[in-house]
Amino acid sequence: MYKFMADHMVKRACEWLRLMGYDVSYPQYHDDNDILKECKSRNLILLTRDAEFYKRYYRSIYMDSTDFRQQVMEVISMFPPDKHNFLTRCPVCNHILEKAKSENLDPSKFTEVRKRFKTINYCPECKKYYWKGSHYLKIMEQISSLIENGN
Ligand SMILES: [Zn+2]
Repeated sequence: MYKFMADHMVKRACEWLRLMGYDVSYPQYHDDNDILKECKSRNLILLTRDAEFYKRYYRSIYMDSTDFRQQVMEVISMFPPDKHNFLTRCPVCNHILEKAKSENLDPSKFTEVRKRFKTINYCPECKKYYWKGSHYLKIMEQISSLIENGN
């Protein structure tokens, strides 16, 4: 599976690609040289809006548009998404989500959610919880529209 690095100018696209299951790192540092070093060592495909930066690395994709939707569509036109991977990855930190164990769910917060949703996912990295509520439907609508327009 291909792995990506999004630069600082394509953060929103980065989050949407993660929601679609793409493995997209986001740099911890600001120096382009450090970002390139990580891309090379981990064999990442760089997504960037910086034309100069793009030219410095052969495995990079230049994001022509300022619109995150166009940026996402550009990636999915080259690397088709797998719907089995949708919403398996934390959009905040890129970690793979796990099923939350019921004994770990604070009853004061999750009693109502658990009545309505069978599965609650959990990011072990940033400790966020995800379930298929109304927000989920909006995300799926956006993903569908990106895929329809991207193909
Ligand atoms: Zn996370």
